[in-house]
Amino acid sequence: MKVLLVNPEFPDTYWSFRHALPFEGKRCAFPPLGLLTVSALLPQSWERRLVDLNVQKLKASDIEWADMVFATAMLVQKDSLRDVVRQAKARGKKVVLGGPYVTTTIEDLPEADHIFLGEAETTLPIFIEDLARGEAKRTYQAAERPPLSATPMAHFELANLKRYSAMSVQYSRGCPFSCEFCDIIEIYGRVPRTKSNQQMLAEFDALYKLNWRGTLFIVDDNFIGNKKNVRLLLPDIAKWQKDHGFPFSLITESSLNLADDEALLANMRDAGFRRVFIGIETPVEESLHEAQKSQNRGDLLSSVKKIQSYGMEVMAGFIVGFDNDPLDIFDRQIDFIRKSAIPLAMVGLLNALPETQLWKRLEREGRLLGEASGNNTVCTLNFKTRMDPAFLVQGYQTIMRTIYSPREYYERVLASMKRTAQQFSEPQHYNIIGALASLTRVLVRLGVIDRERKEFWRFFTRTLFKHHTRIAESLRLAAMGYHFRKLSDAYSES
Ligand code: SF4
Repeated sequence: MKVLLVNPEFPDTYWSFRHALPFEGKRCAFPPLGLLTVSALLPQSWERRLVDLNVQKLKASDIEWADMVFATAMLVQKDSLRDVVRQAKARGKKVVLGGPYVTTTIEDLPEADHIFLGEAETTLPIFIEDLARGEAKRTYQAAERPPLSATPMAHFELANLKRYSAMSVQYSRGCPFSCEFCDIIEIYGRVPRTKSNQQMLAEFDALYKLNWRGTLFIVDDNFIGNKKNVRLLLPDIAKWQKDHGFPFSLITESSLNLADDEALLANMRDAGFRRVFIGIETPVEESLHEAQKSQNRGDLLSSVKKIQSYGMEVMAGFIVGFDNDPLDIFDRQIDFIRKSAIPLAMVGLLNALPETQLWKRLEREGRLLGEASGNNTVCTLNFKTRMDPAFLVQGYQTIMRTIYSPREYYERVLASMKRTAQQFSEPQHYNIIGALASLTRVLVRLGVIDRERKEFWRFFTRTLFKHHTRIAESLRLAAMGYHFRKLSDAYSES
């Protein structure tokens, strides 16, 4: 059996980092971890090829080669997924689909031959047996959420690692909280399941042996969802990192209550976590209450500062469009982002995702207008907002324009670098040639060609004086700022 694993293309979103990647000489931020894991669930004797449309084109010859085309997608990849399905069916191939998008919108792709709903660790082996008997069914619904001990190590070697800016691994699925707009808890549940320490360290080993050095994203939606297990994991990661000379700079996502646990913060710092994404959403208490985001309580700015004081850059998600948002929400968000020293603030318009509690409430209230795009930075609303929609979109665009104007952005970067300044004892692993090439690209693009070059040089000079040991980090953030500015320009015109 020959299987073609296809990862559909991501549109230009915050997480695509598309405008920043060329500075690094990379094509995509992360490899398709889900598909690499699916590959590991298939029989060893099956031949397999990976085509990630974010780093390469889908060739007719690849489809012709395959007996079956497997694809997984998130909502935001749905247009590209449809195109993949169309191309595969046009060549008479069997199409097998899974992933969050298919799970929450099952009948959207009637052409698919086999559909996996939920997590495939238990259903894929059944499908393989059914297929061998010639009795494969159309739909495989996971009866329960499998323990992650059943998740094999992803076939990282299938991906061309050089094309990605970061590698990814997963430690847990699920989150104990119940944010109204969140689809994670509907897909993965509210009881976080984790891998064992041995599984995680084996994945670290595998990536190390594949010669990966640099950023490693632990892609959990809430890394500290199961705090008990995380506490046991972190010392093992710290030891592994120390034994290997800290080859990985770790990033993850976490709920804001991380700030309440200094021991955990210290463990994360010692394990090599350098960036953490937090869903802050809004500084407005009433809106947080409406979103059932009870874990974001107290002084949010102090919480952010606390995390930063452990050497971790905070990235964060913000949302406008809640029913309880006051008319000055836009100024309040800008003010919060400014004071928080969060360089990468991912601000979006509230979107009702399928199957979420928010979707169900709006459906009951007769306020749904259509399906979500999955890209909450696109200026379309899929429900009737309390605030005038034109006012809301305009306010959102003002936030984007303001926070990504070069001066505002660079000020936040410098403030963040000041707050995250720590004396890390571990050696950093730089690919000197790669770093010099990136440096040259950033200096030419942002320091010579870009219309905002004056602001760049002002920032760069201040970095040289105040953070001369962190030039590489400052240039990475400058490139990121360029990405976000490009996006905000595009959204202002949309
Ligand atoms: S904390 Fe994050 S992952 Fe957990 S329910 Fe809220 S939005 Fe979802």
